[in-house]
Amino acid sequence: MRSTMQGTPLTVASILRHGVEVHGDRQVTTATGDGFRRSTYEQVGRRCGQLANALRRLGIAGDDRVATFQWNNQEHLEAYAAVPAMGAVLHTLNIRLSAEQIRFIAGHAEDKVVIVDSSLVPLLARVLPGVDTVEVVLVTGDDGDLTPLEGSGKAVLRYEDVLGAESPEFTWTDADEDAGAAMCYTSGTTGDPKGVVYSHRSLYLHSMAACTGNGLGIAEQDRILPIVPMFHANAWGLPYAALMAGAELLMPDRFMQAAPLARMVHTERPTVAGAVPTIWNDVLLDTEKDAGLDFSSLRLVVCGGSAVPRSLMEAFENRLGVTILQAWGMTETSPMASVARPAVTAGPADAWRMRATQGRPVCGVEMRIVGDDGTPQPRDGQAVGELEVRGPWVTGSYYQVDDDARFHDGWLRTGDVGHISAEGFLTLTDRMKDVIKSGGEWISSVELESALAGHPDVFEAAVIAAPDERWQERPLAAVVLREGAIVSPGELRSWLSDKLPRWWLPERWTFVEEIPRTSVGKFDKKVLRGDYADGRLKVETLE
Ligand code: ADP
Repeated sequence: MRSTMQGTPLTVASILRHGVEVHGDRQVTTATGDGFRRSTYEQVGRRCGQLANALRRLGIAGDDRVATFQWNNQEHLEAYAAVPAMGAVLHTLNIRLSAEQIRFIAGHAEDKVVIVDSSLVPLLARVLPGVDTVEVVLVTGDDGDLTPLEGSGKAVLRYEDVLGAESPEFTWTDADEDAGAAMCYTSGTTGDPKGVVYSHRSLYLHSMAACTGNGLGIAEQDRILPIVPMFHANAWGLPYAALMAGAELLMPDRFMQAAPLARMVHTERPTVAGAVPTIWNDVLLDTEKDAGLDFSSLRLVVCGGSAVPRSLMEAFENRLGVTILQAWGMTETSPMASVARPAVTAGPADAWRMRATQGRPVCGVEMRIVGDDGTPQPRDGQAVGELEVRGPWVTGSYYQVDDDARFHDGWLRTGDVGHISAEGFLTLTDRMKDVIKSGGEWISSVELESALAGHPDVFEAAVIAAPDERWQERPLAAVVLREGAIVSPGELRSWLSDKLPRWWLPERWTFVEEIPRTSVGKFDKKVLRGDYADGRLKVETLE
């Protein structure tokens, strides 16, 4: 029997229409450095119409790519909504990659128009000469010097001038829900960037999952502060989920340092905020300096992108009264795939244990652990292997790249290593590229880092594999101490000794001023391993 239900496609156009028509008075607020500018979703909807008309006039048709080179701000939201809703494909370029990588990515995606923030014009000017497909550059923000773009051979136009000449009326047509709506390249932490193309359907379903109570529970009463960049894995889907739920958006623009972020939480009173652990660590430090900062509006701080140390969660809870919710995902999974909400039956100790994992999958995503021989492993909290996932918002391939090795019987191989407990909680112990294999056994760099981060004198720590004659590999700990702290490697090692197996404890220690970071703020272990190999680290070795 066929169903009798209507086959309305799940599209970004319908998310936009809903946000504007049903929640038109809700606001998007963007930081300006000395204050904030605000618009309602109704006004954003009108500007989306103007943007779509302008892009048509500039020649955008079919699935042409419109790229953004932007901070998290209102104009970025306009592109997020208007470009897919008009049937074109939004491509969020990562502004923090090298010029060479951006050139490669923009060329590979065949971007035709780039919408750039005026503060990023000098950066884009260095990239553009090598990207032949780009015809037009639209510059948002009324300040900024456009001369760096002169001679680029591209038409350079002011976004506001272009929008001002257009009608806000645009008929948003519902595209095929399986058509490409947006694309994002992996940030290449462990290899070359590869493109993932999200469909209207996948974005719609992912947004709905973010709005469910077991997901992020986003609803109309929320004010969402996406600190995670909109060029990184869709800002974890927060902008679309906000439009869908009628939640308000608070955009930090380029004021991404800990101090302005903490001030923004204090004055703009978000209920939900999302960022990687390193940002929350910096923000926490800032709140120690200014005890008057009020974080009580936050019902949820979403944290992921790398493992969240339990000590960070405890500090947020005890000092600020704020709950950190750990989530796991990747560009390839849109990204939200699992969320570490404790089981409702868990007592306090078990609840903490569960919160410190990467969580349970949200409905729609399935997970399994696979051994070296490709067979699924038991869910016993013991059997370690590669994590594989599948679901309607998990990619089934990469854009114009054959990478069969990353897929296995319809499952995506994540490159993450870990185990799943009988209760269904995923614990990641490492990334394949970062594992430490000592005498044939795995040592979890994630657990070592998390335990070290709990030491009162440690600001942060990264652990990498150091080649070792006897054991093949041994862990090396690179530690950033808190300002003014003095502690020896021996003391740090004894701190670890009652928390982890003895044979895991590092002999090699180095104190560094900062851990190198990737373009999205994760520890860059490739660089750290290179620094060690080339003798750039001052290493102390304990007996
Ligand atoms: P990149 O490969 O550049 O890091 P992504 O930003 O897509 O690209 O990151 C996905 C990866 O981030 C995951 O495969 C995983 O290794 C890591 N990750 C994300 N969330 C978590 C988490 N909560 N705990 C541990 N690792 C995480």
